[in-house]
Amino acid sequence: MNFHPPFRPRHLVLVLGDQLDAKSAALDRFDSTLDAVWMAEVAEESTHVWTHKARIALFLAAMRHFRDALCERGLTVHYRALEAAPNAGSFAKELITTASRLRPQKLIVVQPGEWRVEQCLRTTASQLGLELEIRPDRHFLCSREEFAAHAKARKQLRMEFFYREMRRRTGVLMDGEQPEGGAWNFDADNRERFGKGGPSEIAEPMSFPPDEITREVLAMVEKRFAQHPGSLTHFDWPVTPEQARAALQDFIRHRLANFGKYQDAMWSSGDGLFARPYLFHSRLSAAMNLKLLDPREVIAAAEEAYREGRAPLASVEGFIRQILGWREFVRGIYWHFMPGYLDLDELKATQPLPDFYWTGQTEMNCLREAIGQTLEFGYAHHIQRLMVTGLFSLLLGVKPQAIHEWYLAMYLDAVEWVELPNTLGMSQFADGGVMASKPYVASGKYIQRMSNYCVGCRFDPAQRIGPQACPFTTLYWDFLLRHEKLLAKNRRMTMQLKNLARLTAADRLAIRECAGQIIHRTPSQ
Ligand SMILES: Cc1cc2nc3c(=O)[nH]c(=O)nc-3n(C[C@H](O)[C@H](O)[C@H](O)COP(=O)(O)OP(=O)(O)OC[C@H]3O[C@@H](n4cnc5c(N)ncnc54)[C@H](O)[C@@H]3O)c2cc1C
Ligand code: SF4
Repeated sequence: MNFHPPFRPRHLVLVLGDQLDAKSAALDRFDSTLDAVWMAEVAEESTHVWTHKARIALFLAAMRHFRDALCERGLTVHYRALEAAPNAGSFAKELITTASRLRPQKLIVVQPGEWRVEQCLRTTASQLGLELEIRPDRHFLCSREEFAAHAKARKQLRMEFFYREMRRRTGVLMDGEQPEGGAWNFDADNRERFGKGGPSEIAEPMSFPPDEITREVLAMVEKRFAQHPGSLTHFDWPVTPEQARAALQDFIRHRLANFGKYQDAMWSSGDGLFARPYLFHSRLSAAMNLKLLDPREVIAAAEEAYREGRAPLASVEGFIRQILGWREFVRGIYWHFMPGYLDLDELKATQPLPDFYWTGQTEMNCLREAIGQTLEFGYAHHIQRLMVTGLFSLLLGVKPQAIHEWYLAMYLDAVEWVELPNTLGMSQFADGGVMASKPYVASGKYIQRMSNYCVGCRFDPAQRIGPQACPFTTLYWDFLLRHEKLLAKNRRMTMQLKNLARLTAADRLAIRECAGQIIHRTPSQ
């Protein structure tokens, strides 16, 4: 296939690694005889945070498949592969090289998923003296402007009200003017844990063994990014729209019915390390975030399963809320508050990120499991991210930007528009309550209730001081003590602060000392 035909294009359409959508607005009115596409693999995107090997591989494999699909449709694609010499290593430099040679009349791109990238493209276009047309991203159901209008009318932003508005606007799970089943939210039905024996049969998600293109990428990443974290051993992710659709159908058929009930439950299978990291989750986030899969299709498939009696309403509503509600809401928050959002630090947290976040080597079973699984698969489900890795960082007082960079690096589905509000806002409360109405804090007892991680752990979640004390439990009480004044302003913290008030001065001192020891013995750079 010829990716570098010699003609001078009218429009050069830039397609970024998370914009692999053949129906993208960037390709509207594309004329194959006049226009060309530009795609570039650049090392900078894998190194500005120390990216997991599987995340690098996923983006590159999906990009190469997308390139080939465009070429098969007869589009001209100027594609810069990472190993093609000389690759300048950054978007800006690569774009300058190609655009200076081709001298198109105009550059066209769809709104990028990261503020930094949008700024970079604007600056580069201006250096080149070329017009840059930024088109709206139709992948999302709520545009940046619609979210801004929603935000303008409110003193406080809350996902629940945004979600109701989206339900009304789209007609999803509606019965006329009323929500299907008479309630907007069935969250209360969706907090079950597995019994002592763990989950019964769960159909393993559909696997997509790497084809020749992906195998080439995996070999290149293994060699070129050898020092990066993570493993490629289990790489079986969908890398084309067809595969992503098959993964969706597989989830709807085999796991959606139980998704809601067990969405907060965590489990270590014990038989074979991290044998079942996905439980009843869809593992569709990466495919959606790369735009291989349209969220409307995902939502419609789930709603259809409910209407045909194949999945209960509580599960289907719970699943749809994640996509129509949370996913759209966090994107709105990101664009509404950037670039300032990146520097928020409401709790003035200053601790460095513990080293074990990069290795999984810690005595704390829950963190070893969640991080170990992340290194193996580039995946952890929401509660593992929020209530294990995120919670520990919050309780320890890790600098929000350090934990943000870790999440951006380690998860296959990480793109800043979705990762940052989840990390800084929902998980670290660094935005002071824009995303979440209170900090998500709990002691080790929450982890004990929702998982089997504490079984066999050398710590005891019921103890807050002493050699057996669970670090989560000690740090939970220490967190309340450290932030007592600030939290007292939040009505949703009343219960937790009432319990804190029962502690004697001696209890408080002992907790502070024990927390100090934990911080002291946690290695970090
Ligand atoms: C600290 C932290 C960081 C996160 N970083 C990311 C990230 O980089 N990329 C990402 O896509 N999600 C992120 N999430 C949200 C969530 O954890 C993942 O979307 C989910 O675990 C992906 O697995 P899944 O596809 O099996 O999801 P499922 O549990 O099957 O959920 C279905 C879909 O709902 C959407 N969804 C669910 N929760 C959220 C949420 N809170 N925000 C946005 N979309 C949501 C996802 O698209 C997901 O595929 C983060 C959450 C936390 C607490
Ligand atoms: S006892 Fe504490 S550290 Fe150990 S697994 Fe349970 S919550 Fe984690």
